[in-house]
Amino acid sequence: MEFKAFLIKYAEIGIKGKNRYLFEDALIQQMKYALKPVGEFHIRKESGRIFAEALEEFDFDEAVEALSCVFGISGICPIIIEDDNDFSHIARVVSEYVDDRYNNKNFSFKVNVRRADKKYPIKSMEVAALLGEHLLNCFEELHVDVHHPDVTITVEIRNKVYIYSEEIPGPGGMPIGTNGKAMLLLSGGIDSPVAGYMISKRGVRIDATYFHAPPYTSERAKQKVVDLAKQIAKYTGPINLHIVNFTDIQMAIYEKCPHDELTIIMRRYMMKIAEHFAKESKCLALVTGESIGQVASQTMQSLFVTNEVCDMPVFRPCIGMDKNDIVALSEKIGTYETSILPYEDCCTIFVAKHPVTKPRLDVIKKSERKLDDCIDELMKNALETEEVIKINAH
Ligand code: ATP
Ligand code: MG
Repeated sequence: MEFKAFLIKYAEIGIKGKNRYLFEDALIQQMKYALKPVGEFHIRKESGRIFAEALEEFDFDEAVEALSCVFGISGICPIIIEDDNDFSHIARVVSEYVDDRYNNKNFSFKVNVRRADKKYPIKSMEVAALLGEHLLNCFEELHVDVHHPDVTITVEIRNKVYIYSEEIPGPGGMPIGTNGKAMLLLSGGIDSPVAGYMISKRGVRIDATYFHAPPYTSERAKQKVVDLAKQIAKYTGPINLHIVNFTDIQMAIYEKCPHDELTIIMRRYMMKIAEHFAKESKCLALVTGESIGQVASQTMQSLFVTNEVCDMPVFRPCIGMDKNDIVALSEKIGTYETSILPYEDCCTIFVAKHPVTKPRLDVIKKSERKLDDCIDELMKNALETEEVIKINAH
């Protein structure tokens, strides 16, 4: 007995009242994106549920894996769909189903029946009792427990009949596109891909900005960021990746500002530039992978000084997480192996031996004045020479 369809359960989006259809449509959109490389599926809504039916042969594990990346899904139920809703046919298919799915039949069960078709000649309770009895007759090890069954076999009778008993947990969260858009500052590190994943789990679509410093940073370092973006696009959907040449700005800071303030001043210009692209592409927030105290540029004082250049909210979903937890999440979402590849990053190349850990805003602003004669031109150049790459998961 092969599964040709899935019933998709969704949790939070069920409670959104009149906007519910927007949430369902966004979920369907993202399911289509995720299932595209798996095969052709017909995805449809039917009275508060979503079904994905395969129109051709497909790999079951690949399909489950793809659906596990779709935010908004709380459960993935492999389901049998039968055209014939005659009771004797249902009984035969249900016993075949149990025989096929459960080698060891020493478990307790209950049959749950729903009739969308109220004209169906037998009432739900009665269908459930008859199916239970039928299963007990077929398999003598089975026993019934209506309160705490090991297995609940659900049979839904509509025009067609739907049978399922398993639910594979989905990723939870909300469908991409239901909560606006944000601009992720994506470096080649461990934290920022995780930050992007976490924000998009709440339904936020993301674009990304990466700063490179050729020739100090290589093509391979840039390719690594493109690869990371591709990996998170599995979850976030397509990403417009803005690549900014940051070399001249960095060199100017390096030449004119105190070296212990390099990183913090650099971070301020990164935020300014990312905010510019964010506004241009109608993003409502910036997202970074910062976490309090992780490095000198992420102390409370440093975050305060960095944040000061932005008008937009800056979201830092990793802010209270320990590195171990961020690493665990990056392993789970599949970015870790790429993140630890040892290519140079523009921050590490110009980093000072003893960076300030408690920068003061007035002091930093005073240092930045040393850039007055060149920074407008350099910023203009950086903005004008950006490269945008459209990233897709597949
Ligand atoms: P990550 O693992 O994300 O690189 P990190 O611990 O190396 O984090 P920093 O280098 O201080 O931290 O950077 C903090 C945050 O600033 C990053 O999480 C990212 O959001 C952003 N950032 C840093 N470098 C870049 C870059 N080259 N391009 C885009 N964003 C960057
Ligand atoms: Mg980094």
